Amino acid sequence: MVENVIIIGGGPAGLAVALYTARAGLSPLLFAGSPPGGQLMLTSDVENYPGFESILGPELIQKYRVHVQKFGVKIIDQNITKVDFSNTLHTVNTVEKSYQSKSIIIATGAKAIWLGLENETRLRGKGVSACATCDAFFFKNKVVAVVGGGDTAMEETLTLTKFASKVYLIHRRDQFRASKIMQDRVLKNSKVEIIWNTVVVDVLGENKVEALKLKKITDGSESELEVGGLFLAIGHKPDTDIFARQVELDAKGYIITSERFFLELAKVKSQNSNVKSTIQSEKLEEMKEKFNLDHHSATSVEGVFAAGDCVDYIYRQAGTAVGMGIEAALDVEKWLENNS
Ligand SMILES: Cc1cc2nc3c(=O)[nH]c(=O)nc-3n(C[C@H](O)[C@H](O)[C@H](O)COP(=O)(O)OP(=O)(O)OC[C@H]3O[C@@H](n4cnc5c(N)ncnc54)[C@H](O)[C@@H]3O)c2cc1C
Repeated sequence: MVENVIIIGGGPAGLAVALYTARAGLSPLLFAGSPPGGQLMLTSDVENYPGFESILGPELIQKYRVHVQKFGVKIIDQNITKVDFSNTLHTVNTVEKSYQSKSIIIATGAKAIWLGLENETRLRGKGVSACATCDAFFFKNKVVAVVGGGDTAMEETLTLTKFASKVYLIHRRDQFRASKIMQDRVLKNSKVEIIWNTVVVDVLGENKVEALKLKKITDGSESELEVGGLFLAIGHKPDTDIFARQVELDAKGYIITSERFFLELAKVKSQNSNVKSTIQSEKLEEMKEKFNLDHHSATSVEGVFAAGDCVDYIYRQAGTAVGMGIEAALDVEKWLENNS
C-alpha cells in the first residue's frame, strides 16, 4: 500500500501536520516515535500556549493526540530507523516494517543538551529548565543560574534578568564564545554575575532546586551556591541523524527548508555587514538547484517537507512548531494536488 502522507514525529509540529492533512482527507500515517510526545513531555506548567492559561506539557500533548485521532489519524508510537528518499515513492522503515509514501513530513524535533546529572534530571520542571522563554516567568524575584557561554546562554541570561532578582552565569572557561555584542549586553547588566572557570557538579533540593554544588576548574575547590532555578543553555541537537545524506542539513544538523535557504541567500547578498549567513556561500551555491520558493517547508528532496524544531534553530516554541506544522501540511496538500 502506498500512503499519501507519512509524518515522522509526534510532537506539536507533527501533530499539527496530522490534524490539517487528516481534515484535508489525506489519511496521514503518523510515526510519533518512542517515547512519543516530544519535548513538552519533559516540562510541567505551560502558560504560553494559546487557549490554555496553564496546562501540564504532557497533558497538552495527550489532548492533541486525542484531537487528531478524532479525525482518523493513525498514530504508531515507533521510531523510524531508516529512510530512503532517492526514488519517486519515498520509503521509511521501522525495525519491523517498511512503508512507502508519496510525500513525507519530517517533524522529529530536537533535544536540549543537559549536563547529565542525576538530580538535574529529577528536578526538571521543578526549577531545572532548558528554556528561559518558556519558564523565566516562573522565577519572578528569584535568584537563578544559567550554564553556558554561547549566544544562546547570553540570550537566556538577558531574558531571565527581566524576571529574576539576580542571575549567575556559570561558564567552564575564562571567556565566552558568544558574539561580542551579546557578551557586552550581559556584562553591562547589573543583575548578572559571571562565575568563570566553574562547572555544576550537583543540583541540590528535595522537591525543587535550592542550591548548586560548583567546582572550580582551576583548583578543584567545591562550593555551594543558593539558587531557586537552573537554566541549561549548552546547546540543542536536532534529531536528524537518519536524514543525513538524504536531505540537506546545516552544519549543526538542522534540516534546510526552502524558506531557510532563501533567507540565508539573502543574508549572503546583504550589503549590511552585521547580517551574516549561518551557511557558507559556496555550500548555498552547490544547493541552489534543489530549492524553489513554491513551498516554504520543502526540503532539498521533491515530496519531502520539514517542520518544527528539527528546522527551527531560533524560536523553538510549541506555538511556532505548530505554525510550521500547519504550513507544511498546506504545502504538502498543494504539492500532492500537482504531483499525484
Ligand atoms: C524543558 C522544556 C520546556 C519547554 N517549555 C515550553 C513552553 O512552556 N512553551 C512552549 O511553547 N515551548 C516550550 N518548550 C519548547 C517546545 O517543547 C518545543 O519547541 C516543541 O516541542 C517543538 O516541537 P516539535 O514537534 O518540533 O519537536 P519535539 O517536541 O521535539 O517532538 C519531536 C517528536 O519526534 C519524535 N521523533 C524523533 N525522532 C524520531 C524518529 N526517528 N522516528 C519517529 N519519531 C521520532 C519524538 O519522539 C517526538 O515525538 C520547552 C522545551 C523544553 C525542553
